[in-house]
Amino acid sequence: MRVGIVALLHESNTFIPEKTGRDQFQQDMWLLGDQIRERMATSNHELGGFFAGLDTDGVEAVPLCAFRAYPYGPIDQETFAELKGLLFEAVRAADIDGLLAAIHGATVAEGTPDADGEVLSCLREAIGYDRPLIATLDAHANVSAKMVTPCDAVLAYKTNPHVDQRIIGEQAAEMMVRTIRGELHPVVELVELPLVINIERQHTPDEHWKPIRESIRQTTPPVLNKNVLLGFPYADVREMGCVVLTVADNDRRAARDAAEQLAELVWQRRADFVGQLCEIDDALKIAIADEGCTCLLDMGDNVGGGSPGDGTALAKALLESQVDSGFVIINDPQTVAVTEGKNAGEMIDLQVGGKSLDVYGPPISGSFELLGQYDGTFTDLRVRHGGFTHYDQGRTAVLRQHGLTLLITSRRIPPFSTGQLTACGLDPAQFRIMAAKGVHAPLAAYEEYCTTFLRVNTPGVTTADLNQLEFHHRRRPLYPFESDAQFTC
Ligand SMILES: [Zn+2]
Repeated sequence: MRVGIVALLHESNTFIPEKTGRDQFQQDMWLLGDQIRERMATSNHELGGFFAGLDTDGVEAVPLCAFRAYPYGPIDQETFAELKGLLFEAVRAADIDGLLAAIHGATVAEGTPDADGEVLSCLREAIGYDRPLIATLDAHANVSAKMVTPCDAVLAYKTNPHVDQRIIGEQAAEMMVRTIRGELHPVVELVELPLVINIERQHTPDEHWKPIRESIRQTTPPVLNKNVLLGFPYADVREMGCVVLTVADNDRRAARDAAEQLAELVWQRRADFVGQLCEIDDALKIAIADEGCTCLLDMGDNVGGGSPGDGTALAKALLESQVDSGFVIINDPQTVAVTEGKNAGEMIDLQVGGKSLDVYGPPISGSFELLGQYDGTFTDLRVRHGGFTHYDQGRTAVLRQHGLTLLITSRRIPPFSTGQLTACGLDPAQFRIMAAKGVHAPLAAYEEYCTTFLRVNTPGVTTADLNQLEFHHRRRPLYPFESDAQFTC
């Protein structure tokens, strides 16, 4: 028995004017054939889970191609056509009994708003209609019927931060093997809710998720798998929002009933999913009064949601408050370039950050002490959001102005690992207030050091204040935009 493995992973923020191209995929993941096994088999990613699950059953994994780029603007037309073509050809030419596809689910391409639906339809066409296709999705997927229809089963991560990716990959692989053996006949059902879950409310370990977590855990045959998709609010597409997906063994009615019951449970709790916004000044006051270490989460410059990572709002607030041991990471290749050739201990006049979009500026200008320069690569094998293990933040300069330490990267990477600091000679335990440009993903790494997490309403293309975003294509009604939205199964 041979099972093919493919991946296309991109979370696309349509509020960013720039597109994601071939270069960004090549910088992160552009893998063909056995390169996928070499790089991902031992990772905490669902691709690692695919290999592990197939291995357990003694089934041959046939890695075909895998593409991933960090969240950013939609994929440009040319790159998307190339990726789709490579996936299609690889699957069509492969001698396989089934296909496992790791798909993000919130991918948008230029001219193709439902890029995931397009890719899954294309994979179905490539493999034909007599062999199973099982897809895994990120919990932030914006799911359409077009994505679900081509698949025998669809499974999504259950956690945010995403720390169960490998487990979901293993479950998908096991389901695939049992399906090929004829032991299972999975069917999948989708229920769309008229609901957008604010990013600030998407931390699944929180109390307001408890009944939903329990319902998902209490899954019994013939129902095999239940999922609540959080959705990715930064995509102005028809399918943006929350859905429920269920998989059952050869029993569409059972899958449908389970999906409707879970959707009803989510809908009853809709008021819990309206964002609670904490402003910068209020967050600073709480952080300063806090005895432990506080992490300020920069929701408007959330790199894992596609933001550029050079916003200066929190750094400025920390400087103005004269905090004595603050820490911020800013992506600014121009500033790093200016520090090249200078020595540690030198004072340098700089304009730091705030260069990408007006909303992230203005830069912090003035004299900075250069503390050191680093190559910016590191490895972190622990379970972290995104299943990443090898990181490259590019040439990195560490600067200080008054009580604020700034780590300036020349490649935009999300704050998924505190290796960003330790690889540059910084002990995270030395800081009292740290800013992280994310909402929930950083917690998997920063919980080791920070006792308090404050989600701060900063401006940007990932603002948690969804009323600041102009939507033209989203479905209507959607609660809480339309507060009188009704839901009936
Ligand atoms: Zn996600």
